[in-house]
Amino acid sequence: MVIPKETSNENRIQILEQEVFRLTEASIEALRQKDVFISTISHEVRTPLNAIVGIAHLLEQDAAFHNDNRLKILKFSADNLLRLFSDLLELSKIESGRLSLNISDFSIYELTSNTFSALELQATQKGLAYEFVFDSKISPVLRGDATRLGQVINNLLTNAIKFTPKGSVRLEVILLQDYEKEQLIRFIVSDTGIGIEEENQKKVFENFFQGYRVAGLSGTGLGLGISQSILKLMGSHIRLKSAPGQGSEFSFDIKLLKAEPLSLNQTSSEQPQNLSGVKILVVEDHKASQFIVKSFLNKWKASVTLADNGLQALEFAVRDHYDLILMDLQMPVMDGYEATEALRKLEGGKYTHTPIIALTAMNVSDVKEKIVAANFSDILPKPFKPDELYRTVMAHLSQSSIAGRAVHSEGIPYLEKIDFQSIHSMIVSFFVTQSMAMEFCKTLAEDLRELKTNYRNTLLANDETTFKGLIDKTHAVLKWLGIRPLLDETQRGKILLRQPHSQAIQDNALKVEFYCDRVVSFLNEVVESLKKRELQKVAHHAVPNYSELT
Ligand code: ADP
Repeated sequence: MVIPKETSNENRIQILEQEVFRLTEASIEALRQKDVFISTISHEVRTPLNAIVGIAHLLEQDAAFHNDNRLKILKFSADNLLRLFSDLLELSKIESGRLSLNISDFSIYELTSNTFSALELQATQKGLAYEFVFDSKISPVLRGDATRLGQVINNLLTNAIKFTPKGSVRLEVILLQDYEKEQLIRFIVSDTGIGIEEENQKKVFENFFQGYRVAGLSGTGLGLGISQSILKLMGSHIRLKSAPGQGSEFSFDIKLLKAEPLSLNQTSSEQPQNLSGVKILVVEDHKASQFIVKSFLNKWKASVTLADNGLQALEFAVRDHYDLILMDLQMPVMDGYEATEALRKLEGGKYTHTPIIALTAMNVSDVKEKIVAANFSDILPKPFKPDELYRTVMAHLSQSSIAGRAVHSEGIPYLEKIDFQSIHSMIVSFFVTQSMAMEFCKTLAEDLRELKTNYRNTLLANDETTFKGLIDKTHAVLKWLGIRPLLDETQRGKILLRQPHSQAIQDNALKVEFYCDRVVSFLNEVVESLKKRELQKVAHHAVPNYSELT
């Protein structure tokens, strides 16, 4: 900008002020446009991705696809794509100062051991020694943002495995200071991998920096930058020690408040997944999304009605009654905001207090105000995992009388995840004769009784050989029948064996014993019902048909 020489000082200031104002407005507008662009792209890409990830999850639960490599590749690619988009969105949030923490009570042992186990296969497939060290003096329940902390640890471990061709990768969680109300905890992820040159040790924390653009080692170059920003919010930062060819050590310390221990049954993953008797209206224009949400809700035994848009939802809601409504936001004919406002105002207050949950692939912070204004009860960002959908639905139902019905109809805590119905069908259809099926059930029940009796002691005694023998005996059969909760717990036991932590062992053993008991009593029931059928068959053949005789 050129200001004529003859301009007075006063006018000069005025012109410069106007120019500053114009530039500020322009940059605010540019930022706003960038945010809108990112939100729109996020919506457009995440909706179909949500469908892909959801269908992959559904297929995975189908026994016919358990070992299908094509499904594994599909899931891997979709997850990667989702990670790339999540990273880009995170970056935009960080840049606009919108990254925030979500604080709640959590078990740090569960968080770190689960994050560690999730990558175990990747590490062992590369032939790496994979080690986990957890300090038993760490408080069982702490307060903080578990998801974000898990994200940082996951990122460091993923890198460590990726950049280590041979040797070992290790996660250590150590108590540094035990204060009255807080604990200072150190997290260390170390590897014996390729290491990082001195001149690159600062650069690795810059966004989009990638040391190696070679197949198998490439990524987004965003992981460390995002991790560093998350830790900054937690009042910490990552330190790095590394030498080329010798390996790297990434570490950080965080202070977390101590919290009251949770009871075993309170953790979300252990809730009974049962929504029988609950009527849910799903309002969604994408057929694939409809299919996924409906499949999960049906799996949990809810009764589901589908509507293609807000107007149709209104018609259905007036005609019938629903206990809960899942509502997409962007739809043709009538969008989710308008429909929810109308539902809340319906005559007689029929839907004034009904939980209406918004489903959206948009950035939550972008739609939050409109969601509140339209009187939604909650928001569930897409793509969501089945567990998140279940937890959100359950949280809202538990505020009404329906929850009582849903929870108490089964009565047994945290076992609904075992699909006894399909296990029953598998056993009955697989064996050629009933006596073979009975024999199978009896043998498995016997093995599980043995597992239950010896599990805790073997684990406490740190007797690796006996422990492995014990769980290997039932491993293949449990896998075949898809009894995942029991399998997962015994796999966690393997890690506990390497790093004994008494409270965690007690918790793990309690769950294994509980699951064994349930499966054994189920198997006994199957044997009894098979016996009855056998008797009925004998009776059927033995009793003459009198009508034929007369
Ligand atoms: P990405 O892994 O997606 O490339 P990151 O931000 O996580 O992005 O890492 C940036 C770079 O830092 C990597 O490309 C790599 O060059 C280097 N790096 C990170 N972790 C390690 C490690 N454990 N060993 C060697 N190099 C590493």
